[in-house]
Amino acid sequence: MTTEVQVSAADPQAAYLEELVRHGLLIPMGVPGLYGRSGLFEEVVERFDAAISRHGREDGAEVMRFPPAVNRRDFETSEYLKSFPHLAGTVHSFDGSERDHHTLLRRLEEGEDWTAMQKATDVVMTPAACYPIYPTIAKRGTLPAEGALVDVFSYCFRHEPSLDPARMQLFRMREYVRVGTPEQVMSFRESWLQRGRALMESLGVPLEIDLANDPFFGRAGKMLSANQRDQGLKFELLIPITSTEKPTACLSFNYHQEHFGHLWDIRTPDGELAHTACVGFGMERVALALFKHHGFDPREWPAPVRALLWGRD
Ligand code: ATP
Ligand code: ZN
Repeated sequence: MTTEVQVSAADPQAAYLEELVRHGLLIPMGVPGLYGRSGLFEEVVERFDAAISRHGREDGAEVMRFPPAVNRRDFETSEYLKSFPHLAGTVHSFDGSERDHHTLLRRLEEGEDWTAMQKATDVVMTPAACYPIYPTIAKRGTLPAEGALVDVFSYCFRHEPSLDPARMQLFRMREYVRVGTPEQVMSFRESWLQRGRALMESLGVPLEIDLANDPFFGRAGKMLSANQRDQGLKFELLIPITSTEKPTACLSFNYHQEHFGHLWDIRTPDGELAHTACVGFGMERVALALFKHHGFDPREWPAPVRALLWGRD
């Protein structure tokens, strides 16, 4: 017991979380990974968001914004439950009788489990910002020759409670999503690997780009992860935040091949299944990296970094 407490006190992730809270940047809400953000924290997120837009502007992506939830049927189609059942969050609600209501209140009062009185709704928390895009594009029918390019930004939910401030349960992801032929999709990912690196280098943070894999669930998941690595389907841009040995993934570059094209039957004009790729920016992680490397007061950040974030759009 004692050792556990000592270990956590010396834990650099918990220590950084404490510092962020002390500086008022994150506001604890009593659940690990669930925080309010201060105005300053939000300003950094907004300025970084604008910097991403400037880097992607010339591509003319179609902007779509969704609430942080998806249609349960689309969520089921996405096969998220095959790969990440442990991360999913569903929205439940009470729809019983008056008698059931009394039971619910009694259970609440007696400290029993009242949540069993609720039923799943048609709403599921968004696990990654790009999820609402695939069914939306599929509904339009066959892709035009130039394919599709979408700009999306959403809070995402993942049930991974942690004391690491870089691992939240509700966090924001800005993404560009490309749907088209394998060539279109690969060249999109190539260009964002370069742009992502250039953007983050200009923010003066140490970084490296490396092959990565998703945390697929279970024994079958280990094989999926190995496959993903062998085929070079996922790259991450890593920045040390609370550890130099284990830097944190702040941007992800994912190539899904025809996975989503197949699930939603998205076709290119020649009748082939569409391929998809996305680049995802972890907005909180980037803000945390900036505060870590440049300090808690952005007025004292290096001039080029300030110019990039607070310069004119
Ligand atoms: P990790 O391996 O660290 O769990 P991931 O590979 O699951 O991350 P992606 O699914 O690629 O992450 O998500 C895209 C981006 O969203 C990541 O690069 C990261 O910046 C951010 N992100 C992912 N999970 C979290 C989280 N729990 N809290 C904050 N940001 C996150
Ligand atoms: Zn995505």
